[in-house]
Amino acid sequence: MQSFNPPVRTLMGPGPSDVHPRILSAMARPTIGHLDPAFVGMMDEVKTMLKHAFQTENAMTMPVSAPGSAGMETCFANLVEPGDKVVVCINGVFGMRMKENVERAGGVCVEVHDDWGKAVSPEKVEETLAANADAKILAFVHAETSTGACSDAKTLCEIARKHDCLTIVDAVTSLGGVELRVDEWGIDAIYSGTQKCLSCTPGLSPVSFSEKALDKVRNRKTKVQSWFLDLNLVMGYWGQGAKRAYHHTAPINALYALHESLVMLHEEGLENAWARHKSMHDKLKAGLEEMGIGFVVDEDIRLPQLNSVWIPEGVDDAAVRSELLNTYNLEIGAGLGDFAGKVWRIGLMGFSAKEENVLFCLSALKKVLN
Ligand code: PLP
Repeated sequence: MQSFNPPVRTLMGPGPSDVHPRILSAMARPTIGHLDPAFVGMMDEVKTMLKHAFQTENAMTMPVSAPGSAGMETCFANLVEPGDKVVVCINGVFGMRMKENVERAGGVCVEVHDDWGKAVSPEKVEETLAANADAKILAFVHAETSTGACSDAKTLCEIARKHDCLTIVDAVTSLGGVELRVDEWGIDAIYSGTQKCLSCTPGLSPVSFSEKALDKVRNRKTKVQSWFLDLNLVMGYWGQGAKRAYHHTAPINALYALHESLVMLHEEGLENAWARHKSMHDKLKAGLEEMGIGFVVDEDIRLPQLNSVWIPEGVDDAAVRSELLNTYNLEIGAGLGDFAGKVWRIGLMGFSAKEENVLFCLSALKKVLN
């Protein structure tokens, strides 16, 4: 056995995205204890910067020590009690995972379906909530990574509020890449991932909970089934002030990386980061359309950071992706689920959303397709 030295790739798939060298080098700094005052001070800064990234004042804003899926489980395990009715919007793979989460928490799932590549329909959600007055939660994916469609989170939250429902929102692909305003839109529980538009290493899941959502967690009739994800316990470590109690050993160096990525987001400015993703998408779109490659998702609901495009007729999906990888060290994503073999997913996330990547991807694709 020898040390592992990965090839240097350009990551333009659905995540992970390229990690900025500043973030990689932050990770290599000396490991200190997870209750060391210096580390606790850094945790406070991570919370402050995450609040800004989510545009929230929620005190309960912190990174779960595990990937986006654990952030998802944190929301459902804490907020769904056995017998609770939850309306789940499904317009791709990750909505389907929400349904799984509801059922595993003992909830009753009412599904609202939209076609893959479409946004969640506010009209269908309104109808479903009107017909299910006992529903307690509305759950939906803001940025569906399996299709590249962005749903109107602001309107969906308004509808949920009108029907006295809490909201659980998946922002794994949206955080840092498109407009997202937790407080202004009235989102109650939200989870994300570090490996997409934050350009950090995978393995952490920023989450945020409103006071209304925390009230529900504090007043549960049953214990949260998962000890590790129980917010009542996790808050003892991530809570306010200097009084921090051991809950689990935090992934110290991964948190250095998240801290650095949030410093970089702060330096750029949140709204500038959203604008950069959009302008890189416009450049990529112009080049792809010149090559006759069309987009799956209508322009008004298209995510700039996740470009789903139809694979041209007669082209061998796997052969093209493997030539891009083997010859050009360029990763683009395959289609998932219903879109397998029909669609490529070209990511422009975080540090990967830059002009040299757009030009590189267009010229490599041109070469491989000709
Ligand atoms: N939700 C969405 C929309 C995602 O895109 C992903 C991952 O791609 C997840 C959840 C799960 O995140 P992770 O793979 O970090 O567990």
